[in-house]
Amino acid sequence: MKKHLTLLPIFLVCFLMSSCQNQVKTTETVNENPHTHIKKSHTDVLKQEREQKERDEKKKLLEQAAFSAQQYDYQRAMTLLNQSNYSRDPEIKSTVQTYQNEQKNLVKWPDNGKISHLFFHSLVVDESRAFDGDYMDRGYKDYMVTIEEFKKILQQVYDRGYVLVNIQDIAKPDPKGNMVYQSIYLPQGKKPLVLSQDDVSYYEYMKNDGFAQNLTLDANTNVTNTYQDKTGKVVQGPYDMVPLVDAFVNLHPDFSYRGAKGIIALTGYNGVLGYRTSESSYGQNSDHPNPHLAEDRQKAKNVADEMKHNGWKFASHTWGHLNASQVSLNTLQRDTAKWRKEVEPIVGPVDTIIFAFGSDIGDWKPYSNDKFSYLRSQGFTYFCNVDASTVSWTQLGKNYFRQARINVDGLRMAEELAGKTKVLEPFFDVKLVYAPSRLK
Ligand SMILES: [Zn+2]
Repeated sequence: MKKHLTLLPIFLVCFLMSSCQNQVKTTETVNENPHTHIKKSHTDVLKQEREQKERDEKKKLLEQAAFSAQQYDYQRAMTLLNQSNYSRDPEIKSTVQTYQNEQKNLVKWPDNGKISHLFFHSLVVDESRAFDGDYMDRGYKDYMVTIEEFKKILQQVYDRGYVLVNIQDIAKPDPKGNMVYQSIYLPQGKKPLVLSQDDVSYYEYMKNDGFAQNLTLDANTNVTNTYQDKTGKVVQGPYDMVPLVDAFVNLHPDFSYRGAKGIIALTGYNGVLGYRTSESSYGQNSDHPNPHLAEDRQKAKNVADEMKHNGWKFASHTWGHLNASQVSLNTLQRDTAKWRKEVEPIVGPVDTIIFAFGSDIGDWKPYSNDKFSYLRSQGFTYFCNVDASTVSWTQLGKNYFRQARINVDGLRMAEELAGKTKVLEPFFDVKLVYAPSRLK
């Protein structure tokens, strides 16, 4: 018992000491503290943490700036660094200097009238299902490209120095509404190219034929595809152009001029991006009502928002896949109103129309007719047709820009292989791309 009593003061001292230490840990402002070593080490930890945080922030900042610089947007890269909290940091300053010098090496693209435009349809995921000898076999072989073909094409297009630009990078209206060429600055040897994809609706007729079923967002809100394979298993992954190009540009940022990707041309009658969003086709009073119409519209909008954020642009392909040269003005007006009612709320206002069937609203002479005036009044400034007779064809109108596109598909590749055209030659070697399954 006596022994315990003598131990008591020691316990008390220990207890007081430990409570005192706790106090030091929580209140840093105590200066007259006997346990200065504890305070010092704690301050050191805080300092180390702060320094680490600054190093991380700086690293992230430099990475962001480097990505912009690789996409030839040196101004953005330098602004990012100069306006940051680290603008006085020697490494940041020297990086700004490097970008200033690199920017001087860019050269202005000499002729915005000579810029090519390639377009694709939905890519074939499973050739054994698309090219299966049924009544759709020929159509798919003629108008589609397989994922394997597309990957090879993309790599070759990149290797040959092409860089994706937006059509808006080529020409834009000035404050008075007059269309003027914009300066495109690229390193010597690099060539601007516009990319587009038509009919990204994953139409009803394509079901079970080996194509993706929609564009969607994965768990990290990256744009990806849903695909149902032969066995019925549903998977997510890059099964069409958008996520494939996104991944390619992440790997090769210099394939994109200031973040440009491509134009997605949409009809409306089967909905958009694989969602059955059309009120007139899938509303309550329709033949095939979609009970999740509102929900699907929201899903499609979320995907479209993310795509725009990633550099994609949208265009009208007319609501009903109309042949614009053959239909009356009245039909074109009703169709455009439908597109604006059903598609615009999902993808936002667009300034580009990509005519279906490669048609157009006029011949090669500058536009001046009622259809043109009407489409201009509806906000369309960029007009695209199809012309694969030449590597590039454009027209800078007073208040519009028109560009011809080359269809990259089975028909064009077969012509190239047969020696009937050389229009694809500047972009890729068809022999190295053409899928053997096409010949079966
Ligand atoms: Zn089409």
